Amino acid sequence: MKWEENVRKVVPYTPGEQPQKAGIIKLNTNENPYAPAPGVARAMAELDAERLRLYPAFPEKTDLAKALAAHYHIGTDQIFIGVGSDDVLSMIFMTFFQSDKPVFFPDITYSFYDVWADVYRIPYETKALDSDFLIRPEDYKQPNGGVIFPNPNAPTGEVMPLTMVEEIVKNNRDVVVVVDEAYIDFGGISALPLIEKYDNLLVVQTFSKSRSLAGMRIGYAMGQPQLIRYLNDVKYSVNSYTMNTTALVLGVEAVLDEAYFENCCKKIMETRGRAEEELAKRGFVFPKSCANFIFASHRSVPAREIFEKLKQNDIYVRWWNKERIENYLRITIGTDEQMEALYRALDQIV
Ligand SMILES: *Cc1c(COP(=O)(O)O)cnc(C)c1O
Repeated sequence: MKWEENVRKVVPYTPGEQPQKAGIIKLNTNENPYAPAPGVARAMAELDAERLRLYPAFPEKTDLAKALAAHYHIGTDQIFIGVGSDDVLSMIFMTFFQSDKPVFFPDITYSFYDVWADVYRIPYETKALDSDFLIRPEDYKQPNGGVIFPNPNAPTGEVMPLTMVEEIVKNNRDVVVVVDEAYIDFGGISALPLIEKYDNLLVVQTFSKSRSLAGMRIGYAMGQPQLIRYLNDVKYSVNSYTMNTTALVLGVEAVLDEAYFENCCKKIMETRGRAEEELAKRGFVFPKSCANFIFASHRSVPAREIFEKLKQNDIYVRWWNKERIENYLRITIGTDEQMEALYRALDQIV
């Protein structure tokens, strides 16, 4: 068809499977195994449907922005809220990566980055992680059109010390540097304090992992007000009302209940500690994880085989048929009971 010449052709991002089957153990998309803070259920029950008659409030004017600002000790003008961090990151690509020079990110990383670069026609260059799957800050010293990386990185789970993050930000003052902190609450140290010092730094976080609200879709970027204004200008030029009223109301509860949040993260980190022992006992090797997953490879059994066999047991983990990582499984940390079921299944497989 002739019209196909004018189509924006992209290879879409492929998320992990979301099997609609009861009773499965789902350790493939880094969701939180625990329910959101109890206040979320309460607020949901109390939400008056009448409110949905109106368009939602502007996120930056809501209690959600105020709660986040208070939690992080920054101004509401330093926060941009979007429909999950995927929306926030997509807006960031559209807003800040307008250079002819390539945007830099690691070769093994969140596999959405190259998809956004492609869909927005942004040139990019990947920088190979070293043999221990670590980012080499010196790779990010050449001229570029922007830099983005997750910290902790996904799918490796490895965290970069703050001094190295700062080195990358400092060496790239002419472009925007984005630190995607989707997993920072599981033991990493956030780059957030650096936003006061660097006007080119954006720190992105999400409610999907540590706050158990993947289904609600809330993410946010934090940076100096000028960066946030630029983001809002683009966002309000695409779709004024991205955040729905329900998300804006329920999100507040997940931020206010700090004790619940901290306990949840602590439980996951403790389960992760035990998982390291149990997996090592069964012949797996893995880099030290600071996230809610472990990126593990077995000494003798191929990852693909383990992946398939676990699936036959209704246990879903993530596997990529991709150079350098095809022999690794990314296993989300579930509840202790879910992990026990995983170990029992692995005993039959490896
Ligand atoms: C999960 C994840 C996101 C996106 O999460 P949202 O659900 O869209 O907030 C972004 N970056 C990384 C590295 C992730 O793992």
